[in-house]
Amino acid sequence: MKFNDWQLEPQPVFLDEEIDPDFNPNSELSRSRIIDDSDLDGPEAKRLKHDNILEDGGNQKAECAICLLPMELPVRFPCSHEFCFTCAKGLMRTTAKSCGICRTEIPLNFIKNPESFATETVQAPIRKNSWFYKSRSGWWVYAPRMQTEIENAFQSGKSTYECIFNGRNCVLDFKKSIQTFGENEFQKKVQKIKRGLSDSSHLGVAGLRYRVPS
Ligand SMILES: [Zn+2]
Ligand SMILES: [Zn+2]
Repeated sequence: MKFNDWQLEPQPVFLDEEIDPDFNPNSELSRSRIIDDSDLDGPEAKRLKHDNILEDGGNQKAECAICLLPMELPVRFPCSHEFCFTCAKGLMRTTAKSCGICRTEIPLNFIKNPESFATETVQAPIRKNSWFYKSRSGWWVYAPRMQTEIENAFQSGKSTYECIFNGRNCVLDFKKSIQTFGENEFQKKVQKIKRGLSDSSHLGVAGLRYRVPS
């Protein structure tokens, strides 16, 4: 087999993809309960009258050229093209790391400071039965559409759910409370997942921080 330099190139890693060094997926002890109701007595929970009070303002968003769905957590690149944040992260997985429309190179700062590319402020969704995954820095909620899909799979009694997570194949395992993703078998990454109340105490949504350190 021919030696390929590009295979050794470290893949860029967004904050929410960093692995929690304290988490050993093979240890029974390090597993979280999938349903976390510990925060259901907090002040934000008390204000909840229904399961899902937060929804989008209802304005119809432009279509994303990658997923062909209304733009979710939109980010704008310097070339002025916009994509869903999670779709844009997928572009960083490609060798070219360029805009999906005009092929202009995406600034590397997009990985370190994706919030500066967001076209709207990311608000903490306050809702029960939200789905989270844990990186090195803490818990993140999944992007809204993914939330709905995961919850539907969970409610229908499935034990796993397969999806595209940040441009990579990912499997959520509801029994083990983990998600597994990666380029191939040898680069698999494992993160804890849980279901509970989302509020501003978490880091952000899908890798976009609610509070960006200045
Ligand atoms: Zn998209
Ligand atoms: Zn472009």
